[in-house]
Amino acid sequence: MCGVVGYVGQEKCVPIIFDSLKRLEYRGYDSAGIAVLDDDSVSLVKTKGKLNELKKRLGDLPKTAKIGIGHTRWATHGAPNAINSHPHSTGDFAIVHNGIIENYAELKEKLMADGVKFVTETDTEVAMHILRSAFKETGSMKKAIQNSTQIFEGAYAIGIVTPELPGEIYIVKQGSPAVIGIGQDSNFFASDALALVDHTDKAIFLKDGQYARITADSVNVW
Ligand code: GLU
Repeated sequence: MCGVVGYVGQEKCVPIIFDSLKRLEYRGYDSAGIAVLDDDSVSLVKTKGKLNELKKRLGDLPKTAKIGIGHTRWATHGAPNAINSHPHSTGDFAIVHNGIIENYAELKEKLMADGVKFVTETDTEVAMHILRSAFKETGSMKKAIQNSTQIFEGAYAIGIVTPELPGEIYIVKQGSPAVIGIGQDSNFFASDALALVDHTDKAIFLKDGQYARITADSVNVW
């Protein structure tokens, strides 16, 4: 078990995301990371080991960022090291994922035949490329999620950010828990409501097959 979290709002997001990850430590994990959007780009840090290791690197993230996603990983595909830890990013697209994409091997083979280069051993990087190329193709994150979830087999709670949709976080849920927290001029998501208790007591628990978009002042669930 492990955790996903995300924040979008008016506050500096890095301490909020880090504190939410701390709340999920009880679930067990082997590595952790945070990705934020700032000035139209993705910045990320990830480290093997406990959150204390990640904490030493938080200064490498842009301090002014107000939107980001975080992860504590329990490795299922690929060694527990910094490269395999989440978020995974192509620079213009970043995701965190709890769960397992069962058919990742066959999907990876097809992507490699199309020339996609992989940098990690994870099933999650496969999911990232499928979501990203569907987004590039359709220009719509909703369509990208609809198309990709028809392909994915397995369990997932996924958080997605891209500088092409600044101010938006997408959350996709199937089999792994995902909850949205509704704040004041801010919204959150996490794998466990416990991560959000410092910020809000209003929550929407996503159901399997649902996906959502949160911005600082809106929540949409489909
Ligand atoms: N299957 C993914 C991985 O090994 C996610 C594991 C998790 O839920 O932390 O990277």
